[in-house]
Amino acid sequence: MVITLKPGTTEKGIQHVIEKIKELGFTPHVSRGKERTIIGVIGENAIRTRHIFEAMFIVESVTPISKPFKLVSREFKGEDTVIKIKNVVIGGKKVVVMAGPCAVENREILLETARAVKEAGASILRGGAFKPRTSPYSFQGLGEEGLRYLAEVSKITGLPVVTEAMDPRQLEIVCLYADIIQIGARNMQNFDLLKEVGKTKKPVLLKRGMAATVKEFLMSAEYILSSGNYNVILCERGIRTFEDSTRFTLDLTSVALTQLFSHLPMIVDPSHGTGKRELVLPLSRAAIAAGADGLLIEVHPRPEEALSDGFQSLPFDNFAQLMGEIKEIAHAVGREV
Ligand code: PEP
Ligand code: MN
Repeated sequence: MVITLKPGTTEKGIQHVIEKIKELGFTPHVSRGKERTIIGVIGENAIRTRHIFEAMFIVESVTPISKPFKLVSREFKGEDTVIKIKNVVIGGKKVVVMAGPCAVENREILLETARAVKEAGASILRGGAFKPRTSPYSFQGLGEEGLRYLAEVSKITGLPVVTEAMDPRQLEIVCLYADIIQIGARNMQNFDLLKEVGKTKKPVLLKRGMAATVKEFLMSAEYILSSGNYNVILCERGIRTFEDSTRFTLDLTSVALTQLFSHLPMIVDPSHGTGKRELVLPLSRAAIAAGADGLLIEVHPRPEEALSDGFQSLPFDNFAQLMGEIKEIAHAVGREV
């Protein structure tokens, strides 16, 4: 359930409610809005104690949350969540583009790509150091060496970096070098990893599992929030359907749907979502038109030579063209790039 406190409630009043929630054996989750503080109460049958809170004079209302996901729901928090990463704001008016190679291959390619995507208007650099590959014989990523290049290139260009952690054992080191931790599609329901990443203070980019419903996707986000980390960015990256002309089917319904269900920002990855370079631009336009807060785009100086996902990576000139075209779409829907 959600306890909404009256405007102007003092810190002492807030603490009093928190203590009562703990005393009853539940977990409080506090969200301080511009006008009101709201406190989510998580625990089985918490709603049975609503009368205790309704009797407090600082409490405006107590409402049950009907959805299975609680902290990520709009019922818990009506205002959109805005996440700040250094000088970048995700979930605000500006559409944020994260771009870079699928994998960090070496320092030179990473630096060259980072400079090109920054020049074209991207504000976050992506690149995998730990790569989840279908075949154990494919390039698995540079590991810590890749993380070091990401941190160095971030320092040179000023672009914050996002990179994937596949295992709780990698979290410490990934947190050391990266600004955003990516949880990949294959790990969307790795609940131990979600709980661990929830204990860190780093923003998390959670990708939708390729066979996950939107509700399951939001339940995974709930794991991270309920572990104490509220900075979650959702990412639609395509799901498996009977359609076999594209790598996945990019489900843009989920963009509009999560906006109804959740306050969390949502970005779209049309590179993995389509698996085809030619489709990345039109689906980027569609994603922005549908209300996405940003894009995740794979870019490589020579895609035909890329060690992973070259067929869906854009060369620099195509990426610059994409940035120009989405600007117009963004303006048409009241956003900026
Ligand atoms: C990636 O972003 O490079 C990646 C592996 O994505 P996904 O987990 O969506 O397949
Ligand atoms: Mn990739």
